[in-house]
Amino acid sequence: MLVGSDTIAKLSAAITSLQKEDPPEDALPSDQALTHARAQLLQRLPTKGIGLEETIKHITNDIAPGFNGSSRSSHYYGFVTGGSTPAASLADNLVTAYDQNVQVHLPKETVATDLEDRTLSLLCELLNLDPAQWPHRTFTTGATASNVLGLACGREHILTEAAVVRNDATTSVGEIGLFEAMHRAGIDKIQILTSVPHSSLRKAASILGMGRASVKVIALDQAPHKLDIIQLKKFLETPGTASIVSISAAEVNTGLFATSRLSEMQEIRRLCDMYGAWIHVDGAFGIQGRLLASPAYATIRNGCAGLELADSITGDGHKLLNVPYDCGFFFSKHREIASHVFQNPNAAYLSSSEDSKSIMSPLNIGIENSRRFRALPVYASLTAYGRDGYRDILERQIDLARGIAEFLYKSEAFELLPKSKGDISEALSNIYIIVLFRAKDEGLNKELVDRIKATKRIYVSGTAWEGKPACRFAVSNWMADIKKDLPLITQVIESVVEDRSKNH
Ligand SMILES: *Cc1c(COP(=O)(O)O)cnc(C)c1O
Repeated sequence: MLVGSDTIAKLSAAITSLQKEDPPEDALPSDQALTHARAQLLQRLPTKGIGLEETIKHITNDIAPGFNGSSRSSHYYGFVTGGSTPAASLADNLVTAYDQNVQVHLPKETVATDLEDRTLSLLCELLNLDPAQWPHRTFTTGATASNVLGLACGREHILTEAAVVRNDATTSVGEIGLFEAMHRAGIDKIQILTSVPHSSLRKAASILGMGRASVKVIALDQAPHKLDIIQLKKFLETPGTASIVSISAAEVNTGLFATSRLSEMQEIRRLCDMYGAWIHVDGAFGIQGRLLASPAYATIRNGCAGLELADSITGDGHKLLNVPYDCGFFFSKHREIASHVFQNPNAAYLSSSEDSKSIMSPLNIGIENSRRFRALPVYASLTAYGRDGYRDILERQIDLARGIAEFLYKSEAFELLPKSKGDISEALSNIYIIVLFRAKDEGLNKELVDRIKATKRIYVSGTAWEGKPACRFAVSNWMADIKKDLPLITQVIESVVEDRSKNH
């Protein structure tokens, strides 16, 4: 079926009317709604379908009430989920309607790859990165996939570098495989040096045959989110070892950054150049901090300073960029490494003329062959809101996170984590979009996350901090608004404390 203008009009009308409805108040469906929706799921494949109209009714009336409000309610504070801006939501429906396969750069046939590459270039601009420096850029399924790309490129680079030292310039993991490449390069160990890595980094190391155990945490004792640069030098010096350094630019439990000023990134760059190491930045949500301008966010800006010195960067679209799942992005400075690792060989029917300046075919620079047109929602959202719009969203998110943190800091019942020696203004200046805390009362603390979730009104995630349960807000929805949201949050938290003291 061709996409007629009436199809698009219908889609636009549907999404616009969904957006006009008040977003659901509660972050979670009621237990009854959940049970009901589960019971309504089709048990057997129908022989005859029930048709389009009935199907849509079935989904909206029976099933959707069982969804959580992760994107449509701004009160869902779990897992840095993000929402979807109206422009991105509409564009995502168009992606489905047009069903472009963005796989090969075919400039005479479609503008899709041009749009994807331009979007990535606009994204560089948004994040204060010079697009000309990041020629290997692509959209991925999310930050996990981007981390796989980063470690794959890093793996290729560090063994090539080690082989060059041994006068064998031809080594390519992509070509001859990891074992042979390591052997030829005289390398018997690969290490990935980092501080508080996201779990997906170990997963990426496992997928790529380097092993989860190759991820080594070298953090400062006093500040475990920070990379220990003295130790870094010692580890890089290890004979027979090739290294990738992964900078956790905003760590998922605390939102804190692995580096805190430009000079630290410059020193890391200098050391990595000396030892042929690759610098990857996991900036899934932290890279967005580069948008900030006001002195109120100086600590965050310093945490993002110098990230442009890295070799590769991971970012997420479905987190702070607030586009629908599944969307991540990846930038690397090394165009030639992209094809060493990802070149789809011998697919003559897929070839397009590729000179060094032309847009690279997505299938030759990332994991997938056929690909969804993930760029369009990002393009639409950047076009609709621009730099100022995105900065405003991020500032509102940080302001709400800081409002929550201030409330907790001043309350009798809770403590803000990680414990800071400074005063409240210092504690707040470190807050990005994540607030980690626990109840002082051990009994309440054990039940805290479940009790908050049981209200259904707001959603928080549980985690562990220094061996004890802790609770975490991640403010990542574009609708975040301290005036509307903070009163609800404080009310829910206070009610949880009161209920428990009543029952004990
Ligand atoms: C969320 C996150 C990831 C994984 O991202 P997905 O998009 O869920 O795959 C990786 N690194 C960091 C720092 C994250 O916050």
